[in-house]
Amino acid sequence: MSKAIYPGSFDPVTFGHLDIITRSAAIFDELIVGVLNNSEKNALFSVDERVSMLKELTKENPNVTVDSFDGLLVDYMKKSGATIIVRGLRAVTDFEYELQIAQTNHVEYPKAETVFLTTNLKYSYLSSSIVREFAAYGGDITKFVPPQFVDRIYEKSNIKKQ
Ligand code: ADP
Repeated sequence: MSKAIYPGSFDPVTFGHLDIITRSAAIFDELIVGVLNNSEKNALFSVDERVSMLKELTKENPNVTVDSFDGLLVDYMKKSGATIIVRGLRAVTDFEYELQIAQTNHVEYPKAETVFLTTNLKYSYLSSSIVREFAAYGGDITKFVPPQFVDRIYEKSNIKKQ
């Protein structure tokens, strides 16, 4: 049984994240989407809100669960039994950090293997921080995030949309 974890902040979840979730759920027997509880001061959504948004989006995928975790990813992996870390790679700018963190995780927990999925071309420019920035100025975010979350993202950004 292959058990993978896709960790991230997901603040907010985007179509890019969803694409990685769908593709990795088709590769691994079980996938945990792990929301990092990093007590980021200027986060848009609380960790519980992000978990519930992700649960809503993945409820039709029987092999996907959503959870949050504190502290080191490898400690959460030891607890949950996941041995594969899924990460998405967009541009080369992602690579240096991802390589370093993957190697560190492997040193800390030799059973941990990181697997990279290359971004879907359609979403290669997309990140949660771009969504937050666009929403803060009232930009159109409908191409970036699932429709049911658009209004909540504007509300959190203190933007009034008609
Ligand atoms: P952000 O979207 O702000 O980069 P996350 O920490 O939530 O932040 O990202 C979690 C994981 O999802 C990372 O591996 C990141 O590379 C990947 N990811 C994010 N956006 C995309 C995208 N558009 N396409 C592919 N992978 C992505």
